[in-house]
Amino acid sequence: MHFETKAVHAGGESDEKTGAVSPPIYLSTTFERNKSDGQPSHGYSYIRDHNPTQTRLESALAEIDSGEAALAFASGMAAAAALFQSLPSGSHVLIPDDGYYAVRILGTDFFPRWGLTHELVEMTDLGRLRKAIRRDTRAIWCETPSNPLLKVVDIASLVTIARETKALLIVDGTFATPALQRPLELGADVVMHSTTKYFGGHSDVQGGSLAFRRRDALFEQVLEVRTIVGGVASPFNSWLILRGIRSLSARMRVHCENAKVVANFLAKHQRIEAVNYPGLPSHPAHAVAARQMSDFGGMMSIHVKGGREAALAVAAKTKVFTRATSLGGVESLIEHRASSEGPTSRTPENLLRLSIGLEHPQDLIDDLAQALE
Ligand SMILES: *Cc1c(COP(=O)(O)O)cnc(C)c1O
Repeated sequence: MHFETKAVHAGGESDEKTGAVSPPIYLSTTFERNKSDGQPSHGYSYIRDHNPTQTRLESALAEIDSGEAALAFASGMAAAAALFQSLPSGSHVLIPDDGYYAVRILGTDFFPRWGLTHELVEMTDLGRLRKAIRRDTRAIWCETPSNPLLKVVDIASLVTIARETKALLIVDGTFATPALQRPLELGADVVMHSTTKYFGGHSDVQGGSLAFRRRDALFEQVLEVRTIVGGVASPFNSWLILRGIRSLSARMRVHCENAKVVANFLAKHQRIEAVNYPGLPSHPAHAVAARQMSDFGGMMSIHVKGGREAALAVAAKTKVFTRATSLGGVESLIEHRASSEGPTSRTPENLLRLSIGLEHPQDLIDDLAQALE
């Protein structure tokens, strides 16, 4: 079945009790148990372990990412943290030099408490990645396309390296979504998404997901961390994310179309030093992106000539683009990324990150044109 069809129907069986086509939201925190043996009568016990709305979402998450199983979390960071907390103490983890800033903060501030060590690596350079692998390297965490520089790593090559070294390969696929890129089909072990972004799609719900190629011991370990540490998705948020998945492929099509138009406009603008967008032939990994993604996504970043003040001034003048962090909603956002990331930021001061929404592309170009005047 095609992705579009799966996304519309996955986890979407009509309600058995009422025939309701839109799934019910079960808010119950607790579930009845049998008289005879004290066991749960319908498989559910307590909301933090499992809840029926979340179960529906998880079956959809597994299906659209081509995994055997998936887990829903309260946020993308809760998903990432649960994965890392599932690794054996003493594990060494490789993290990309460009990637979601809070994952780096997990590395610096939390890995030592969890008995993990880490190293930042430029993962587009496979030679450097190989050199960074040690005997105790248990996981390669990659992010493609990356935030905020839109670096693209070759997932299939990373799979080969990870298998040679018996490390897990985990891919943060938030920018691409499974509509455009499915790392598990290329052999990655786990794919993570901040479902706060494109899955929700309307800037009104927080969530995270992990989809697993195999329902194996790793899955069970992460499930235990989620159950005990408690970063589980709420029923209402699960319902909203599930609803978002229904329109994910249609929205991604327009995000991609609009982003292409905007990237081409910006690439020719004299006040722009560089545009980071994998759909531009000038992108260093354009060919890799074309191979492993069905389209190039709605995210890009630009380097404005003149440094920090010039970049801030451009963001200050936009009227259609809203100045805000986050991404993946229907509305276009523009962000001075270094300001959002704070003191640990590695992002160039002249960089603006753009999340291209579903407006008419001409209005987006006109808005950027006047802001760049
Ligand atoms: C937003 C984001 C995260 C973190 O997700 P939250 O839902 O905010 O916790 C992780 N990775 C990427 C690429 C993101 O954009």
